[in-house]
Amino acid sequence: MIEVSDGIRVKGMKLWLDARRRKQVSFISHAHADHIRSHGEIIASERTVRFLRHRGIRGTITPLAFHQPMEVEGGRITLFPSGHILGAAQIMIDTESGEKVVYTGDLRVVGGETAERVQIKKCDILIIEATYGDPRYVFPDRDEVVAQFISFVEGCFDRDLAPLLFAYPLGKAQEAMKILFRRGYIPLVHHSIAEIAALYEDLGVDLGGYMTFCPGEKCLPGSVLIFPPGARGEAAAVTKKRTAVLTGWALDKDIKYRLGVDEAIPLSDHADYTELVGYILVSQPKKVYTTHGSPKLASILRSRGIEALHLEGAFVKGGGEHF
Ligand SMILES: [Zn+2]
Repeated sequence: MIEVSDGIRVKGMKLWLDARRRKQVSFISHAHADHIRSHGEIIASERTVRFLRHRGIRGTITPLAFHQPMEVEGGRITLFPSGHILGAAQIMIDTESGEKVVYTGDLRVVGGETAERVQIKKCDILIIEATYGDPRYVFPDRDEVVAQFISFVEGCFDRDLAPLLFAYPLGKAQEAMKILFRRGYIPLVHHSIAEIAALYEDLGVDLGGYMTFCPGEKCLPGSVLIFPPGARGEAAAVTKKRTAVLTGWALDKDIKYRLGVDEAIPLSDHADYTELVGYILVSQPKKVYTTHGSPKLASILRSRGIEALHLEGAFVKGGGEHF
């Protein structure tokens, strides 16, 4: 039923799902780097198309509104939100054989202030991203994570240090900006983050206010710096600071040493183990395929009598949540 070859597709269909090598036609679930490639033709949600263009993807891209069915060769497809980042879409495929197949792309069930709210649909076959598909990855409650985040910021100010956060520039950074602004802080962001923030605002997401960081300029009191992980060189030039990374991988105790930061805060744009299991229980599939993460979730599902298989090789190893 499912074919894996540098991507995933329903056997007999032309349409690939987040193919990682060039295909004739592929759905792109969202605009994170490990999901985007140039293809002969791309189908993506309307908002994702804006981010794809911003990220330099050219060629034929068909924007498809959420909940608007479209006939393709071998079936009918419908997109609906995955809650991961703005524009991130799941795809429902109604196959010619009458089965409903859902591919989630990257997924978040709980939280998220700058993405569309996730929807869960009943299906026969579920292909689910399981980056945190292991019982040891259960995130604290969202309020607790935000409290930890704010306590880090306050702790920096108490010691007269500048708080500097590392966050992926598409999605995570905008969420951090909104959380900070709501609580009276000024997000002072790297230009790559500011560019995407402007797109978010253009797409109707209110981030509050923010400023763009200019190297050498003095930071205003109450400013919280946000840099992408790739701008460590520029971040190193900021003196008298304390750093934190925002990622679900914060649950790994050694992550701050591995990443060379002072603190790791589990603000994630992915579903944790509990959310994944909850999703599966609601969607009631006859068969589950897991991608990303470890094969653990598939093996736990099998032990509970649910037919499940982990798909190796569908995506780049080390994909999943970025920090
Ligand atoms: Zn992603």
